[in-house]
Amino acid sequence: MLSWLKRFWDVRMRDPQPVSAPVIVPRSGHPVSRKNISSNAVKVMYRLKDAGFEANLVGGGVRDLLLGREPKDFDVATNATPEDVKALFRNCRLIGRRFRLAHVYFRGETIEVATFRGHHGDGGSGEGEVRNGMVVRDNVYGTMEEDAVRRDFTVNALYYNIADHTIVDYVGGLEDLHGGLLRLIGDPRQRYREDPVRMLRAVRFAAKLGFRIEKETEAAMLELGRLLTGVPPARLFDEMLKMFLGGQAVATFELMRRYGQFGILFPQTEASLEREEQGFPITFLLRALENTDLRVAQGKPVTPAFLFAAILWEPVRQLAERLREDGVSPIQSLQDAGDQVLEEQRTIISVPRRFTLQMREIWLLQERLRSRTGKRASRVLSHPRFRAGYDFMLLRAESGEEQRELADWWTSFQDADQQQREQMVAGLAPASRRRSSRRRRSRRRSPAVQPNPAP
Ligand code: ATP
Ligand code: MG
Repeated sequence: MLSWLKRFWDVRMRDPQPVSAPVIVPRSGHPVSRKNISSNAVKVMYRLKDAGFEANLVGGGVRDLLLGREPKDFDVATNATPEDVKALFRNCRLIGRRFRLAHVYFRGETIEVATFRGHHGDGGSGEGEVRNGMVVRDNVYGTMEEDAVRRDFTVNALYYNIADHTIVDYVGGLEDLHGGLLRLIGDPRQRYREDPVRMLRAVRFAAKLGFRIEKETEAAMLELGRLLTGVPPARLFDEMLKMFLGGQAVATFELMRRYGQFGILFPQTEASLEREEQGFPITFLLRALENTDLRVAQGKPVTPAFLFAAILWEPVRQLAERLREDGVSPIQSLQDAGDQVLEEQRTIISVPRRFTLQMREIWLLQERLRSRTGKRASRVLSHPRFRAGYDFMLLRAESGEEQRELADWWTSFQDADQQQREQMVAGLAPASRRRSSRRRRSRRRSPAVQPNPAP
């Protein structure tokens, strides 16, 4: 357990405060230091404070610093209006129409400065207009406390006040940080209805932080998963990138399946995973996700195209196989299957065209990498997507779906000089064009022509 949290907890238990008052932890009682906050964010907060405004670090920045992790970005919350902020910073632009935010730009970093949000002003029960999959109400500015209760999870609603370097907690976030719990603020059902993406955020933070999801927060999520289909496909795409390219793709996938989210967002993949008894498709997908996590850990680039090509591969492969059995050529069947699977997936998650083009290339390369005779191998090698296609095939080989020899052949071919390459092509047995034998055997049907047809 983090020792500062333990100390805080012990003191708090001895001296409970009324629920409505915030818990305020002095600088001596927590580990958040200006040294660990981006100097740009510190600069922004001090300039706000010097102009007479309240300025706080909030959200993931505070949460991660309290946990001893490195924050991804630093967000600032203030009682200054966006116009006040704009007047203070030359390098500032206001974004958003309904609720305006200030972005303060520095070289290589943008600090988001948000004015405290308040409650809905109309005094009604609060059913707002649905926009972008979220219930939005006319935003009004508010106090820090009102701002806190509008946030999603308690651990995301902690403030670090630059004026006195205290941590301010209105919602029991410190307690939940201590318990490793993700708890929605307020009534979980209502909060998910307001914005179903919070269900995905629960899974993302659980995987990233290794936290448990609090019981009510979890129960409501199991119940309301269907609401995700109402979220605009473009927003879901952005969310998928955060979930799968954040370094915890495997854990995220497993949690998404446990809560039924994966099947809702990728119904074709879910169906194909269930259809396939032999076990290797899930092995392939898990390997691809493991590989993604490894690359993120090593600081290597990861592309959305490769990720989505992997997630949708199994339905594409199965459909292509059925088309081949109906006599469509291998390349054409992959092409048609890819089109069809993408077309259907598009209604839920919209993958931008620049990525779907690459996905199709990666899929088609799975067939192109098989024909290596004559000049074919050299041609494939210079294909702009060769590397991705080859990596994809390696994962398929590792999960028992593609012949190991084929993958090994390409591994050697890339390292070989011109003369060796010619020898490798010349040495190809005609049998090298055979299809993956394992799958063939498993799929064999009764022969179309009976050996002894009845008269
Ligand atoms: P990270 O940046 O590490 O992914 P984060 O907690 O900073 O995590 P962001 O998406 O950057 O997450 O959002 C910043 C803060 O805004 C959150 O901590 C939370 O307080 C608030 N927030 C973001 N999205 C929502 C939402 N859908 N509903 C309510 N509050 C939200
Ligand atoms: Mg953030």
